[in-house]
Amino acid sequence: MQFNKVTENIIKQLEAILGKANVVVDEEKMEMYSRDETSDKLWEKMPEVVIKPENAQQIAEVVKLANRELIPITPRGGGSGLAAGAVPLHGGMVLSLEKMNKILEIDKENLFMVLEPGVTTGDVQKEAKELNLFYAGDPCSAESSFIGGNVATNAGGNKAIKYGVTGRHVYGLEVVMPDGEIVVYGGKNVKDVTFYDMVHLMVGSEGTLGIITKIWLKLMPLPQYVADLLVPFPDMQSAIKVVPKIMTAGIIPTAVEFMDSLSIKAAELYLNKKLPFSDAGAYIICEVDGNTELQIQEDYETIGKLCKENGALEVFVADNISTQDRIWKSRKAYAEALRMLSPVYCMEDIVVPIANIPAALDAIEKIAAKFDCKIPSAGHAGDGNIHATILREDRDEHAWHDLKDVVLAEIYDAVYALDGNLSGEHGIGAKRISAMYKHMTEGQKKVLRTVKEAFDPNNIMNPGKVVLLGTIAES
Ligand SMILES: Cc1cc2nc3c(=O)[nH]c(=O)nc-3n(C[C@H](O)[C@H](O)[C@H](O)COP(=O)(O)OP(=O)(O)OC[C@H]3O[C@@H](n4cnc5c(N)ncnc54)[C@H](O)[C@@H]3O)c2cc1C
Repeated sequence: MQFNKVTENIIKQLEAILGKANVVVDEEKMEMYSRDETSDKLWEKMPEVVIKPENAQQIAEVVKLANRELIPITPRGGGSGLAAGAVPLHGGMVLSLEKMNKILEIDKENLFMVLEPGVTTGDVQKEAKELNLFYAGDPCSAESSFIGGNVATNAGGNKAIKYGVTGRHVYGLEVVMPDGEIVVYGGKNVKDVTFYDMVHLMVGSEGTLGIITKIWLKLMPLPQYVADLLVPFPDMQSAIKVVPKIMTAGIIPTAVEFMDSLSIKAAELYLNKKLPFSDAGAYIICEVDGNTELQIQEDYETIGKLCKENGALEVFVADNISTQDRIWKSRKAYAEALRMLSPVYCMEDIVVPIANIPAALDAIEKIAAKFDCKIPSAGHAGDGNIHATILREDRDEHAWHDLKDVVLAEIYDAVYALDGNLSGEHGIGAKRISAMYKHMTEGQKKVLRTVKEAFDPNNIMNPGKVVLLGTIAES
């Protein structure tokens, strides 16, 4: 598909729809919209124009214009993505949702929040908590990601084991479809099988099937007690082997996270604070929550006992917010902290069945040794989701790309051999698309292509992400 350039005439039409202030063509101001958090020049591209609509009607008009003129649209939330999903690789418009940032309704009776996509995830969590309610979506990027971006990527995060990923909390969506029609799917009904499940086709579609403009989000009563455990282990394998034991011990923890030794050291450097047992081989971080003190005490004692029996060096329990924050800061610093070791890196997001995590980490360690590179790992161990990050360090551009490509191919092969998949939560975007196609069946490719063509025949909606139309897809 050949796209057209954004001309002076198109800019004028955009200004007429959106107002001059919401149409940006200044290169300096557009620069931050040329990338997400993927951290590699390969995944950067300047938009021809950045637009900041204020409502769904404006978006609908823009989408109709883009169809008439064959201009690609890249929707953008907080830009915290790690798959180059919000990068306008084919040029055209970046459509930023930053001005659609209102919470429209909190319905305490039905336990729903209705909101626009540009509210940050952290604000959703805070707003719910102030009313003694709970939004359980909790990506480590909560302070910078938008709720619309979380829905579009079906973000996971730290509480997914017990409460599920973002899609589990989404009951309704308003979407501007690729032809400019505004359509509402679902709403406040907690059960609803009227129709295809369009809500959950849109969830995780990464801006390729439409632009999410309103969200009906389910809330829950706020758990009254929370406790966190920080458990250092002498080595990675003894730490990770305890995870399936915790998960089958008859309790449902809120979180079971892990960090390897390099990730712990990087966090210590980044936070500029001594961490406990920072020369440990690995940390396991667990959280339990509930409505009685006794219940969470029993839960964390069970976890602590299992960890001790499996070689833990110590078990620290935090039951107040300031100590809990300190524990989570080290884990949440993972992405930024690794930048101190290597400003360019390739962060992966593989997922395997939990019983296969030890084998997956073993395979990654062997690949790192084979190619003489560093691949620190951390992640959401309780749901088998490992962030393994290949560091560029001081390699030149050429050596880096050669290394990354071959190491990634070996990691993916190992993951597929362990019944895993290549993204647990960060998504496919542009970054993982060829790897995904390599491992898909012909039947799967056909379904993806058919859905995309049915919704977006002109391929204007975030082209080059998740689904490839044309020659590459067929190869
Ligand atoms: C430090 C750090 C920690 C992270 N931790 C986690 C984690 O724990 N769990 C996790 O899942 N992810 C994590 N991520 C990745 C990232 O934060 C998530 O993918 C997040 O959901 C992206 O949201 P965003 O608003 O920044 O979206 P963006 O990066 O702006 O966009 C992501 C994708 O969604 C599309 N999109 C955005 N808004 C809309 C919309 N309204 N309608 C249609 N399409 C849209 C974009 O086109 C793009 O394809 C982390 C990232 C960083 C940098």
